Amino acid sequence: MSVELPVLTIVVPCYNEEQVLHETIKELTRIMNELIASGKITIGSHLLFVDDGSKDRTWNIIEEQSMLSPFVEGLKLSRNFGHQGALIAGLEASRAYSDCVVSIDADLQDDVDAIIEFMDKYHEGYDVVYGVRDKRDTDTAFKRTTALTFYRLMGKLGVNLVPNHADFRLLSKRALNELAKYQEENLFIRGIIPLLGFKQTNVYYNRKERFAGESKYPLKKMLSFALDGITSFSVVPIKLVTVIGSLMVALGVGITIYSLFAWLFNHTISGWTSLIVSIWFVGGMQLIAIGVIGEYLGKIFKETKHRPRYTIAVNTQDQLQANTNAQ
Ligand code: UDP
Ligand code: MG
Repeated sequence: MSVELPVLTIVVPCYNEEQVLHETIKELTRIMNELIASGKITIGSHLLFVDDGSKDRTWNIIEEQSMLSPFVEGLKLSRNFGHQGALIAGLEASRAYSDCVVSIDADLQDDVDAIIEFMDKYHEGYDVVYGVRDKRDTDTAFKRTTALTFYRLMGKLGVNLVPNHADFRLLSKRALNELAKYQEENLFIRGIIPLLGFKQTNVYYNRKERFAGESKYPLKKMLSFALDGITSFSVVPIKLVTVIGSLMVALGVGITIYSLFAWLFNHTISGWTSLIVSIWFVGGMQLIAIGVIGEYLGKIFKETKHRPRYTIAVNTQDQLQANTNAQ
């Protein structure tokens, strides 16, 4: 019985990566050849480079290489959409013709050899394989602390993330098909993947220094990425407003009692009592009102995402159908 080998596509988002691209292509080609030689993927597998509106020679290199290499394909976005946008573009484009897709950054920080382990896990039946960093000693102390704070905060807000996992992962075809149903505009792919379900596992690797060039994630982008992650997954910040408002009203009651006493026993200048009572009460009431509006807004926010409400892993009817067809 001949078993058909899977078509693998490795998706690589690239933004101004002319300094590393040749090396990246060389390394990924080596991995492709190893995977083909060991019979883990078919010869018709691809490397898909997504040019995210680069201003340097990135696209020229991709075009050149696509003519020279049997693996290299290119996708050029109309402008810079950001890492997440480039990644989803690549995933969607390769979905139709791939059995599984690996996403990896262009800068060779992720260990390309881990892809071999990803494929082993795929053959064991996993649909999602996360590349997880063993240590973060190549990151600055600042990046390590901010990342840790971020994971903790997201956990508290009820968003399930795989710690120390960036966007280096394998997705099977059915995981990709499910991901395509998440039609939200503020993309935070890392938060969505755990929601897909199916069989998921981790592969550990050491993250290296950037091979060349500079990080495209300066502090400003990191903060906006984190904020996107929180606000596209959680309505907790909105709910906090109601809580703070209620606390203010409760405090207002205390202050009212105190200032009434002060007024009774003449310890205050005239007008202070009514002023202080109204500030706390009105302020608190206003916050509660905003919080109530926020609750509705939160509902709308959730609805507008049109996320799938469930994901079917196996359908016995399909199997029944397949068996009937086979007979
Ligand atoms: N990237 C992209 N569009 C952007 C910024 C980055 O496609 O607007 C790509 C970049 O080329 C790299 C990956 O996303 O392949 C991760 O970026 P980077 O290595 O700069 O991030 P860091 O590793 O510093 O977090
Ligand atoms: Mg990087």
